[in-house]
Amino acid sequence: MPRKVIGITCATEQAANGGSALFRLNAAYVQAVQNAGGAPVILPSCSSPEIIERYLGLIDGLLLSGGADIAPGLYGQEQMPCCGGIDPARDAFELPLVRRAIEQDMPVMGICRGIQVLNVALGGTLIQDLPEQQPSEIRHQQTDFGHVRSDATHTIQVRPGSLLHDLTQSVQIETNSMHHQALADLAPGLVVTARTSDSVIEAVEMPSRRMVLALQCHPEETASRDPISRRLFEGFISAV
Ligand code: MN
Repeated sequence: MPRKVIGITCATEQAANGGSALFRLNAAYVQAVQNAGGAPVILPSCSSPEIIERYLGLIDGLLLSGGADIAPGLYGQEQMPCCGGIDPARDAFELPLVRRAIEQDMPVMGICRGIQVLNVALGGTLIQDLPEQQPSEIRHQQTDFGHVRSDATHTIQVRPGSLLHDLTQSVQIETNSMHHQALADLAPGLVVTARTSDSVIEAVEMPSRRMVLALQCHPEETASRDPISRRLFEGFISAV
């Protein structure tokens, strides 16, 4: 069977110091999709509805990658000083893109910002900054504490019977953590399938759809050595 085409979203960066504006994606996403049997393509942010439809016609599955914070106005909140940098061009692209993908029942995987994009696109809200609004013992932004991106630094509890449980065969998984925001109110249709012990939402799914799996952690950073991370990508690609 030919490889399925997985569209991966990417960051936009404004031109600075006389340079050019950029689109940017960590290579680990491309590597993880390729190793799991998919054919990765990067989707630059273009908010034209016509281009979004064409993209969806070209891809078999959608992978929402990590990145900047979502503009709080998009979930009905004032931006707080603790909110991080935003990427308005990317917001304007990804929100309609994932809504249309879900309408078509296209398989969707979301990572980090991706779980947040999925929730906001479907009507949910976010915590703008965990340390400020919901402090806990768990350090969800591990790179601020001397860890590299591939270190596993916290444990998530997986809901038995969930897709995540089915793919990993685990009720408890050690993951990395590189986020300062998290899901607050859950969008209609989504269910929580993993949390940390401080009750931060770490995974959601959409049981009414073929395959919608979104994670707050970054399995693409660990897929090359960790079989559980690899199985998430393999499960996604095989559902496509
Ligand atoms: Mn975390």
